[in-house]
Amino acid sequence: MTPRYEQLCYSEAYARHADARVVEVIDADGGGPLVVLDRTVFYPGGGGQPSDRGLLLRAADGRTWTVKAARKAGAEIAHELELPDGDAPPAVGDSVQVDLDWARRLSLMRTHTALHALCGVVWRDYGALVTGGNMEPGSGRMDFEFERMTGDLVGEIEGKVNEELVAGRDVRVAVLPRDEAFAIPDLIRTKINLLPPGIETVRTIEIVGLDLQADGGTHVANTSEVGRMRVTGYESKGRINKRIRIEVVDP
Ligand SMILES: [Zn+2]
Repeated sequence: MTPRYEQLCYSEAYARHADARVVEVIDADGGGPLVVLDRTVFYPGGGGQPSDRGLLLRAADGRTWTVKAARKAGAEIAHELELPDGDAPPAVGDSVQVDLDWARRLSLMRTHTALHALCGVVWRDYGALVTGGNMEPGSGRMDFEFERMTGDLVGEIEGKVNEELVAGRDVRVAVLPRDEAFAIPDLIRTKINLLPPGIETVRTIEIVGLDLQADGGTHVANTSEVGRMRVTGYESKGRINKRIRIEVVDP
């Protein structure tokens, strides 16, 4: 399904706000009304990266609404409002400014890029596949098929990842036709083959010279913006599956 409305998060990760028009207000059970805009800067969540939070500001009267989360509604991005009892959401046709909680989003971008650098090093130097991951602003975890992981090795990995981050590697976003994406051997390890058959393009994130993955998330433009990464813990989730927990440290 192709979205009808503009989704800036995928092409302009640094866009913090946009002028928009309300095109649909969906009455969702329980979670409050869902507002669809003709363009938005919100990331709807996915791939381990939580959705953005922020505000809607109505141009006509300056009224604001807190957006507590965003999510996909079909192909569109819907904004979930925090709405006290009796308050009305904006109406279809209203002009609004949509604003991200930027400190939170930037922290998620730094964290997400740090996790990809971790994946890249673990794959390049130890040949271990990533099986999953999750993040909050400033911290995250990744799971690997990494039988021989030990505490010593984790310390070594932390050092290597930080070398890559301070090297100032560019982070590039691309959207490739499906066939072209499937021809890239490195992409296979991120389980690109699990993508639904209907998908015609694959979005990729490349940390130039280190890592290339199919990915839907938002990232900083250069690894130097991450700062440094610190391993805060690691654990066994079985004989083969291991988990590494990290946090990002300001540059
Ligand atoms: Zn990712």
